Amino acid sequence: MMKITGVMVEYYFICKKKLWYFANQIQMENEHENVLIGRMVDETSYIQEKKNILIDGTINIDFIRKHKQIHEVKKSKSIEEATIWQVKYYLYYLKKLGMEDIKGVIDYPLLRRNLIVELDENDEEKIEEVIRDIENIVAMPSPPAANKMKICSKCAYYELCFI
Ligand code: SF4
Repeated sequence: MMKITGVMVEYYFICKKKLWYFANQIQMENEHENVLIGRMVDETSYIQEKKNILIDGTINIDFIRKHKQIHEVKKSKSIEEATIWQVKYYLYYLKKLGMEDIKGVIDYPLLRRNLIVELDENDEEKIEEVIRDIENIVAMPSPPAANKMKICSKCAYYELCFI
C-alpha cells in the first residue's frame, strides 16, 4: 500500500501535476526560495514546543502543543484550503490509529493568527476518495496535464511545466 503523506494531500489540492512530480521523486522544493522562507518560519516559531513528530513513518506533524492538539505552521494563507485538508488528513490518520477527538490548528505566526480544523463524517468520506485518487494519479506513467495558475510562478516545478 502506498504511503500517503500530508504533503501529498496538500499538493493534491494545490495541483495534481505537482503531486505527481513530488510523489515520483522529482523533488526540487529544497532549492526554492518560498520553501526556504517557509522552513525559516517553521524553525523560528514556537521554538519551545515539540516539533516535527513523525507518526507511523508516514505523517509528519509540526508539533503538539498540548494533549489532543496538533499544529501545522504556515507562513501565509495563500493555500489555506489545501492546508485545511492536509490537517484533516492528519486527524483522519490519527483516528484510524485509535486517537480520537483530536483538534487540528493551523498557525500563521507571521500573521499572528490561527485556524481550528475539525474532522466530520463527510470529511472522512471525502478523504477516502482523495486517497484513492492520489494513488491513481501517482501511478500514472506521466504527469497529468495542468493549466497555468496564479501559484505557478512560485512553484519549484515551474521550469519543468512551462519552459
Ligand atoms: S508550475 Fe503550476 S502546473 Fe506546474 S506543478 Fe507547479 S503548480 Fe502545478
